[in-house]
This record gives sequence, structure tokens and C-alpha cells, in this order.
Amino acid sequence: MAAMKSPIAALGFRLAAFAPLALPALAQSPFEKSDRWIDEHADRLRAINRSIWSNPELGLEEHLASDTLVRFLEQNGFRVTRGSAGMPTAFIAEAGSGSPVIGILAEYDALPGVSQKPTSKREARDDNNDAGHACGHSVFGTASAGAAAAAAAIAKELGTEGTIRLYGTPAEETGIGKVFMARAGLFDDLDACLHWHPSDTSRTSFATSKAVVSVKFRFHGQSAHASFSPQHGRSALDAVELMNIGVNFLREHLEDHSRVHYVITDGGGQPNVVPPTAEVWYYLRANSHAYAEHILERVREIARGAALMTRTEVKEQLDSDLFELLPNQPLSALLQTHLERVGPPRFDATEAAFARETQSELPAPPPDSLAQSILELPTDPFHIPASTDVGNVSWIVPTSGIGTACYTHGAPGHSWQVVACTGMSVGEKGMLVAARSLASATLELLEAADVRKAAKTDFERRRATQENPTSVLPKDAVAPVKIR
Ligand SMILES: [Zn+2]
Repeated sequence: MAAMKSPIAALGFRLAAFAPLALPALAQSPFEKSDRWIDEHADRLRAINRSIWSNPELGLEEHLASDTLVRFLEQNGFRVTRGSAGMPTAFIAEAGSGSPVIGILAEYDALPGVSQKPTSKREARDDNNDAGHACGHSVFGTASAGAAAAAAAIAKELGTEGTIRLYGTPAEETGIGKVFMARAGLFDDLDACLHWHPSDTSRTSFATSKAVVSVKFRFHGQSAHASFSPQHGRSALDAVELMNIGVNFLREHLEDHSRVHYVITDGGGQPNVVPPTAEVWYYLRANSHAYAEHILERVREIARGAALMTRTEVKEQLDSDLFELLPNQPLSALLQTHLERVGPPRFDATEAAFARETQSELPAPPPDSLAQSILELPTDPFHIPASTDVGNVSWIVPTSGIGTACYTHGAPGHSWQVVACTGMSVGEKGMLVAARSLASATLELLEAADVRKAAKTDFERRRATQENPTSVLPKDAVAPVKIR
């Protein structure tokens, strides 16, 4: 294709004409320096993403992912403590010293049942791993680590005071990592906390979200031959089914913002044995933690009713408890300026065509296959109809984040399109925008006491004017070793 000379190239041509005159080196701002650091390390960051993406690990099993991120951070001068809050795949990496302390959150767990190749058609991987990065956490962890390393390198070069702390938080999808790190007090000394998430658009997450209680109900009955002597059996599976029917009738009487969903994690062995045990796993969600607690009470009553109907016994296991996000306006405004400074991911025609093909399964896709603009910062927080364990952090320290376009515009979260795009250049372009934005925002937060103060004031005002969530987990609850 015949190329028009770009204005920059034309300028380069003119500068070249003056080559005998030595040009003074242009002074770089700290933000330009951190941008350049990310650019210089972009290949490494892409390689880290590919490694984590190619080996998707479920929550609390993310050994390769956490090792990969820890190695990168140690190579960049971070002091790393592993096994935070009793979780082998959690870690904290720190650079710099003293106050202020700025946190950046990293996630790296995958989801089950969403195996997908980095191709534009729905196509499972050839290996036996059925997991996939359908929430894009391979780019999430990588960009956060890259941002922390870039900010730390530039802060050191400029002699900027303060500590940069990268939190390696496992098992976000089951709401474990940050919940138990928060309970261990690991966020208590932060001045501000930043995060991001892969998305189908680029925007600042000045947002609220849903609280969620993760709880399992395990029924115990009596096994018997299902044909020869069913009269001697008490089916735990019957109890699970009756419980689910009860909960499905409950839905009509819950407030509209509620979400209740379940999977049966144990439904018995085979049909000729009356199942002596069965288990159902529920997520109970609402816009406020208080209402999620109300749903929990109702669901507990239904579980007891199901046990009574089937003469089984029921035991409850509370796995985790996530709070709704507490938004922060000044931190969100800061992030918006950095996201706008960096600009949205710029996708090329090949990437747009790839994403267009992945839209083929969407009922009403947006006209553009990849979002290439940044949405405005809203005046009031918007609502994310999902949950994140970032919520628990947001009630401890001023917290905000961004989303960047990393996959097909209009694709739902937790879909094969997300897996496909984050395993190739589309997701990695969004990843690098996130890394640049978080790095420069961190550098500004280290310097700008007024922004930190405004964020703290906003945090305290919001905490003072709404009901503060209290965990339903027992006081002595510790992080589970495994969740499945
Ligand atoms: Zn996620």
C-alpha cells in the first residue's frame, strides 16, 4: 500500500536535514519515563502473559503463574514474601521504602470448563486442561506486575520517597485471595490501592458492585440399593434437588438486584445407589452485603427444610464473603487522567477482523468489533452487576481501578472470546495500556499528597454515610487449602 508520510515521519525528515547540529536531549517527564520502561519491557510482559495463558491454573493452584510473576519482580529488585495469609500462591512484592505506601493488585487464576485456543472460532485446546483465562487474569497479573516494576524503576531513578507494593492475590474467581489477605491486615497500612481488569471497553471503574456469599450445603443420608431396597435409603440428592426448588421459588420474593446461582458439586455416584451424600454450592449476591446476608438466612432455612423433608442431615460450609465495592472519586479521577494520557489500545485491521469473527456467536454485537475509545468518567458511580474481592480491600483503603479493552466488543465475561483474545495481541495491547496507566498513576500518587488526602477524605465520607459490611465468616476462619 502506498504510504503517506506521517507528520512525525515528516518531522524526522526535517530534523535529519539539520543533522550536523547536535540536538539537545529532550527532558522526559516521569510518566514518559515509565511509558518507555513499559515499551522496553513489552516483549517480556507479552512472554509472561503467554506463559500464564498457556498454562491456565484454577484458584489456589496458580503455582506457575505466581512463580513467573515473582521471578519477574525479583529480577526487578522487589523483595518478595510468599505464602501470604496462609495461601501458597499468594505473595507480596515490595520496592522502595517508607511512606506513602501504594498498593497494586494482581490476579492470575483461570476458570474451569472454558478451554479455548487463541483462534477466532470456538475451539477447545488439544490438551486435557479444560480451564481457560476467561476472565483475562493472565493479562491482569502481568500488567499489574509490569506497572509496579516500571513505577519502582522510575521512582528509584528520580529518588522518589515511598513504597510500591504489588499484591499477588490468588483465587479471585472463588473470592478467596483478597478476602483472607484483608482479614490478615495486609492492606491496613496502604495509602491507596490501584487495580484494573480486562474488559471489552476502556474506562475507569468508578463503580459499585455486588456483595456475594459463597456457601456450600452438604447433605448426608443413607445409601441403599435403589431398586432392591429403596425403602431403606434416604437420598442426599433428593435433599439437594428439593433445596434448589425451594430456592428457585424464593427468587420471586427477593429484591431485583439479587442474584442466586448454584452448581451441584456432588450428586451421587451412580443410579442404583441411593446417594448417601450430595452437595450444592451457592453464590448469593446483592447490591449490599446486608441484603446478601438476608438471602443467606432464607437459603439456610430452605436447606433445613429440605433436610427435614428427606430425613437427611445438612452441614453448611461458608467459603468466602465478598463486600460490594466502595467507590472512590478522587482516585478514579486520577486514573481517568492517566488512562486518557496513555490513550486507548490501538488495534490494527487484522486484529479487528479477528475480533469480528469472534462476534459471530453474539446475538446483537456492537458495530465495532473492538472498542477504541475511552469512556467518560461518570459523575456518579456506575454499577457492575458482578462481584470482586477487590470490594473487601475497598472498605480498608481508598481503592479504584480501570478497565481496558482486551477482547471482543460486546462479548460477555467468562466467555471463550475472552480466552481467545487474551492469548494473542488484542489482549496484550489492552494489557500494555493498563500497565502504562497504572505505572504513571502510581508515580503521581507517590508525589501528590493532595490527591492521597482527597482520596482519604472521600473514603471516610462514604464509609460514614452507608452501612459498613461485616463478614459472616467466623472470626477464626482461615483460607481454604482447596476450594473444589
Ligand atoms: Zn476477573
